[in-house]
Amino acid sequence: MSTYLLKPGELTLKGKNRKGFEQILKRNCLTMLQGSGAKLEMTKGRFLVHCPEAAEKQVEDALAHLLGIAGWAKTRTQEKTPEAVLGACVAEAQELRAQGIRTFKIEARRTDKGFPLDSYGLRSEGGAAVLREVPGLQVDVHRPEAVITVEIREKAYIYGTARKGLRGLPVGTAGRGLLLLSGGIDSPVAGYMMASRGMGLDAVYFHAYPYTAEEARQKVRNLAAQVGRYSLGIRLYTLSFTPVQQRIQALAPEPWRTVLLRMAMMEGADKLARYRGDKCLITGESLSQVASQTIENIRCTEILVTLPVLRPLIGMDKDQIIRLAEKIGTYPISILPYEDCCVLFSPPHPILRGNPVEARQRYEELALSPLIEEALASGLKAHDGPG
Ligand code: ATP
Ligand code: MG
Repeated sequence: MSTYLLKPGELTLKGKNRKGFEQILKRNCLTMLQGSGAKLEMTKGRFLVHCPEAAEKQVEDALAHLLGIAGWAKTRTQEKTPEAVLGACVAEAQELRAQGIRTFKIEARRTDKGFPLDSYGLRSEGGAAVLREVPGLQVDVHRPEAVITVEIREKAYIYGTARKGLRGLPVGTAGRGLLLLSGGIDSPVAGYMMASRGMGLDAVYFHAYPYTAEEARQKVRNLAAQVGRYSLGIRLYTLSFTPVQQRIQALAPEPWRTVLLRMAMMEGADKLARYRGDKCLITGESLSQVASQTIENIRCTEILVTLPVLRPLIGMDKDQIIRLAEKIGTYPISILPYEDCCVLFSPPHPILRGNPVEARQRYEELALSPLIEEALASGLKAHDGPG
């Protein structure tokens, strides 16, 4: 059996809510560990995951996608005697040395004040034992290549390699939002960011076959699946917007087309979200990144929306967004060639500062609502992906 020690993240700050948050974190953790044979044990301030050795890879992969933990480590568990603890420090040090590590220090935390060595004693005696037993290792308290941590709690835990968790809040502590998911770089990142604030996710993709290829739809499915690894699944709805797009193209002046299409998407998304009980819409907009994302045009797209619209990327620049996309594994999928409908639809000289009164009037003239209702009715019958 192997054991992992998990340190919950921000929930330590939440006072009264903490119990509920811990329960949700526990549930999420169990969901992610399903099928691995792992068991979860909650202790004061820590979670322990026990799993068969063969499941280590799966468990580590799950922990790397679990929101709400500050860090985790594969740990040795010992009885609370100084001999056992020092012996485990030496064993851990031997393993580190075998990996080529040359400098180390020991950190110690003691919540059980009955343990005969205090944290200073643990550091100095642990360090001395390692120096005695493991040739080639030296102490460096300022810039060690590795840190061996000792935690004396209900048992003694000793680990040499701690991993950073994703932090954030456990998914499910902040209701659920509807992500407008295109095949681009931005919207998957926006979804991840809200998931990392505890929000569960539904997603909607507006598909305009044959203007957008079937491959574009598959790309969005793959993006939803990747974001869903963090958000414990995503239910993806695909709404066919071909008729909407055709009517805009036929009747609206070219410079207005993008704004009007975005308004239609927002109307469709708002209706879908209310049907699903989602509490907000989430988009990947970033201020002034493209013509449709000037503050004036953003205002226009909101005219028909009743729910709050969250835009977690609004103040980020493209480099930051790309870095996050790489971190969460959506970037390689997003840069595949198939474009979503907006790109193909972009007029050469789009309106930059749409006036909301004019926007509403032009939108109403198109009478798109019945087409949107139809797209919704058929899109609701089938959804892609788990959740
Ligand atoms: P992205 O990289 O997310 O595609 P973008 O920079 O291409 O964003 P726009 O095309 O203006 O920007 O879209 C802004 C936002 O509108 C997107 O981030 C997404 O939330 C939503 N959106 C755009 N097109 C679609 C679509 N076909 N289906 C669902 N949502 C869309
Ligand atoms: Mg796009």
